[in-house]
Amino acid sequence: MDSLKTHDPELYGYLEQETERQNLNFELIASENFASRATIEAMGSVLTNKYAEGYPGKRYYGGCEHVDKVEDLARNRAKKLFNADWVNVQPHSGASANAAVYLAFMKPGETLLGLDLAHGGHLTHGSPVNFSGITYNAEFYGVEKETGHINLDKVLEKAKKVKPKMISIGASAYPRDFDYKVFREIADEVGAFLWMDMAHTAGLIATGELNDPLPWSDVISTTTHKTLRGPRGGMILVGNDGENKLGVVASKSGRVKNVSEVLDSAVFPGSQGGPLMHVIAAKAVAFGEALQPEFKTYQKQVKTNAKRMAEEFMNRGYKLVSDGTDNHLILVDLRNKGLTGKIAEESLDKAGITVNKNMVPFDTESPFVTSGIRIGTPALTTRGFEEDEFSEVVRLIDLILQKPGDESIITSVKGDVQAMCKNFPLYDFITA
Ligand SMILES: *Cc1c(COP(=O)(O)O)cnc(C)c1O
Repeated sequence: MDSLKTHDPELYGYLEQETERQNLNFELIASENFASRATIEAMGSVLTNKYAEGYPGKRYYGGCEHVDKVEDLARNRAKKLFNADWVNVQPHSGASANAAVYLAFMKPGETLLGLDLAHGGHLTHGSPVNFSGITYNAEFYGVEKETGHINLDKVLEKAKKVKPKMISIGASAYPRDFDYKVFREIADEVGAFLWMDMAHTAGLIATGELNDPLPWSDVISTTTHKTLRGPRGGMILVGNDGENKLGVVASKSGRVKNVSEVLDSAVFPGSQGGPLMHVIAAKAVAFGEALQPEFKTYQKQVKTNAKRMAEEFMNRGYKLVSDGTDNHLILVDLRNKGLTGKIAEESLDKAGITVNKNMVPFDTESPFVTSGIRIGTPALTTRGFEEDEFSEVVRLIDLILQKPGDESIITSVKGDVQAMCKNFPLYDFITA
């Protein structure tokens, strides 16, 4: 970063500040992680200069012989990682990947059945403020008030009633795993496509730490920067391309196309222009890392740490949605502690502990206040935190939440947070 330092000192200064923030805080936002230095280097490469509309071997621009190899490397590694028949690594983000999924499978006005945003779903699964809810008719299933789990009998009941064109699975704040086989049965019973959005859990799925949606879903979308620990971006995958024909949806000419062909067109030219080749290179690096045995060890630890955190919170009298976790995150319902998500997030932030306020199912507060916080283990596990460190993390969070806003507690916890962070060094290549 030496040239940036002299070329643009103002911008460099902001990067230094952000590096320090990442180095000295507990990063507990469940959707965040720390990409490797190699991944970040690939993103900062000359590939940002190249236009490569189209796909390897079929580009609309000359000079693509090297970026073709880059994209093929990313695609082949991703296919191996997820045991997929086909992938598209061009989506700029998770939301862009999902836009292409809709374009491939649904016409405007048709019905999607997805997990309610207030019950852990995502904006792109039919929220009225998102293109998905604006363009399509969105219907929702949710979790049970008593258990916090999805009741699949009720999903079937709802599917029979609303007859969706597509059913979506996947969430950004659901601490439990999904039974894809049963979702497949439901989709088949009502003649719907089945779409899994594994944006949060892709890393855990790749390593077998969670159930595998690929054999059961018509299409799978993901981000590459959450548990997968790559650059900010998206991807679309198909498990069994051959058995999976979109037929009429696909083709005005009547020719039956494979899902993969339809999805490739839905990404480009359907919903994006030129791919971000520097980010695709970084995806290749991250997928290469994810194929190493250490990545499996990492994902196991992500899960073990989340379990430890759940136990520690419950031992301290906190109520967790679904009373535990199967994955990398927990959702704390703060109502029995007389707190809102907003107050908890703000006071933890002052002590250098970063979480996000989050609606809990059947929340009585507004989305700006909320009754819960969402806490995830992927980022701190990347730093090297194990169970004992997570017990300490919970102890420090509890100290703050017992007396939110107490300045002397905030100061003392902040000191402990920074001391622990210094024992688990993260990035040294901007500030060094
Ligand atoms: C994060 C997330 C997305 C969106 O990803 P972006 O890269 O932020 O666009 C989509 N779906 C789910 C389930 C997510 O958790």
